[in-house]
Amino acid sequence: MSQQQCACPKCDCSVDSQAIEKNGQRYCCEACAIGHTDGSTDCGHNCQCGK
Ligand SMILES: [Zn+2]
Ligand SMILES: [Zn+2]
Ligand SMILES: [Zn+2]
Repeated sequence: MSQQQCACPKCDCSVDSQAIEKNGQRYCCEACAIGHTDGSTDCGHNCQCGK
């Protein structure tokens, strides 16, 4: 099995069994899954992908 990357455009985090699936895409966390519409600037992995 190959590792997959979070579908958040700026996020480089890899997703694993903990991935959140939305619309057929996989995200590393809820913040990424909702496109950071909650105003979050990161995903909890130090990558500031929501900025
Ligand atoms: Zn990330
Ligand atoms: Zn992510
Ligand atoms: Zn993100």
